Amino acid sequence: MNASNPDGHHPASHFIRNRIQTDLAGDRFVGRHWRSAPGTAAEQATAPADPARIRTRFPPEPNGYLHIGHAKSICLNFGLAKEFGGACHLRLDDTNPTKEEQEYVDAIVEAVHWLGFDWAAFGTSHLYFASDHFETLFAFARALTAAGHAYIDSQTAEAMRATRGTLTEPGQPSPWRNRSTEENLRLLDEMRQGLHPEGAHVLRARIDMASPNLNLRDPVLYRIRHAEHHRTGDAWCVYPMYDYAHPVSDALENITHSICTLEFEDHRPLYNWLLARLADLGHLSRPLPEQIEFARLNLTGTLTSKRRLQTLVTQGLVDGWDDPRMPTIVGLRRRGYTPESIRLFCERIGVARADNWIEPLVLEQSLRDDLEARAPRATAVLDPLRLVIEDWPATQVDPCFAPVHPHQPELGQRTIAFGHELWIEREDFAVNPPKGFFRLTPGGRVRLRYGHVIECTRFDADPNGEIKTVHARVMPDSKSGTPGADQYKVKGNIHWLPADAPQAEIRLFGALFNDPNPAARDDWMDCLNPDSRRVVKARVEASAAQAQAEQRFQFERHGYFVADRHDHGAGAPVFNQSVSLKDSKAR
Ligand code: ATP
Ligand code: MG
Repeated sequence: MNASNPDGHHPASHFIRNRIQTDLAGDRFVGRHWRSAPGTAAEQATAPADPARIRTRFPPEPNGYLHIGHAKSICLNFGLAKEFGGACHLRLDDTNPTKEEQEYVDAIVEAVHWLGFDWAAFGTSHLYFASDHFETLFAFARALTAAGHAYIDSQTAEAMRATRGTLTEPGQPSPWRNRSTEENLRLLDEMRQGLHPEGAHVLRARIDMASPNLNLRDPVLYRIRHAEHHRTGDAWCVYPMYDYAHPVSDALENITHSICTLEFEDHRPLYNWLLARLADLGHLSRPLPEQIEFARLNLTGTLTSKRRLQTLVTQGLVDGWDDPRMPTIVGLRRRGYTPESIRLFCERIGVARADNWIEPLVLEQSLRDDLEARAPRATAVLDPLRLVIEDWPATQVDPCFAPVHPHQPELGQRTIAFGHELWIEREDFAVNPPKGFFRLTPGGRVRLRYGHVIECTRFDADPNGEIKTVHARVMPDSKSGTPGADQYKVKGNIHWLPADAPQAEIRLFGALFNDPNPAARDDWMDCLNPDSRRVVKARVEASAAQAQAEQRFQFERHGYFVADRHDHGAGAPVFNQSVSLKDSKAR
């Protein structure tokens, strides 16, 4: 068994992994057949043994873009399949024709690939759509009806709701619960033929209107929807409910471990009831898939609900699904997150059954830990202040050398040209320095990183007191790396760029919400942080200005930045701030 994940780390164990190990040790899933495609018991019967020791699936509904919560599920499902010699299917759960679109399908496929996972295994691409199974799902529904396990209810939705009962009171049986099998089948076929309007009838499982579990009180299996489906067009006007389509799709796809979030725990008895009925009728073969629940990811200060994220997009409160402030996979990517950092995050948060909250700093630290070793260093001056070296000739240039990476000398050096006019960071100069300020002050000295020591001689300010230019002189024989350079004892070491360093747009980000739990508020849109984005006109080192889109850098003393996927280009560098160098709370 391969006990390491795609990143080569040894994974911490958790209850789902233990469960799979127990199942495998007990040969629980041995004896399944697989015809290299999903199928019914009859279709699989003569096929060879399933080469996958386990099958998991990631089953998003294509009604929006994936978010960081989905990443947890993706890493878990694809990771376990890989670890145990199995296959993980990507299943688009497209049973709700009115909310789903091809754009979302494409985005989901791309996000899972980008995260580093693949559904190809054992010579088959395991990309499926619940709508692929519509014909079989309907045939099974008909079989359940024929066997007396389902009936057509013609009550209104309100009447059904009113008779469902409560946690303390049993539900009331529908007046249609005892329709004859012939009438049920006739109506079901008429529903499919489009002879009935939406809401006229539904197909319900006949289970137990008095069950303490509300999900077992004759749940709806099919409803009428005269709607175009993004894949099946107008072929169907009845659509299966999630609670029916999901277990049956799992079984048709030979899924062994159907891993989902805790809110589906109460649906498990229905999951098992449906599959057991269909197996008893000979339509599915045993062993049947088992549902296992785990705690969803809750990330403090953000939302993980496609519907609400969609509201942000459609109301123009963010710049699209991939706005770098969004917790979507595409947003994180645009922000500069790497697939490796997201996988590392998912590994660190672990898998448990108890609900908990994760601080965003865990996500941020995963990115730092990934980028520290591999992001090239560069200089950026975010708020440029002009520095004139009075005693340095206007035409003379002195190249200063800085490592591309301090711990990887093989990556070579970059050159920053020292000259008469430079840029420094506005906040690195103070006329009235606060206590502990070790940077540049009138009359004071600092080292220009990788360059010379300078002494401030004077400064120009406008009538409002805003500093326009700082003047300085250079200390002789003070250049870094040359003999005698350390005769100057200076505490400050500030970054700088030559006057002709390229301009760049840099986008700085804060939290999107100023409430730790926006999801809990009805007025969640009112807690959007108005200062979550700031755009500055900066100067950057030429090496960064010339970078490819999506190249990541550590801008020294500032943090990690990425060349914007879409807007960065030749002659117009654009960078997004990914994460600061240190957690701001810890500083
Ligand atoms: P949303 O409310 O954002 O639409 P969902 O659960 O309805 O979320 P699905 O597309 O149905 O979205 O989710 C696909 C899979 O991702 C499901 O198996 C679901 O359990 C899992 N998932 C969704 N959100 C999270 C989360 N926050 N943490 C872990 N897994 C999640
Ligand atoms: Mg859902």
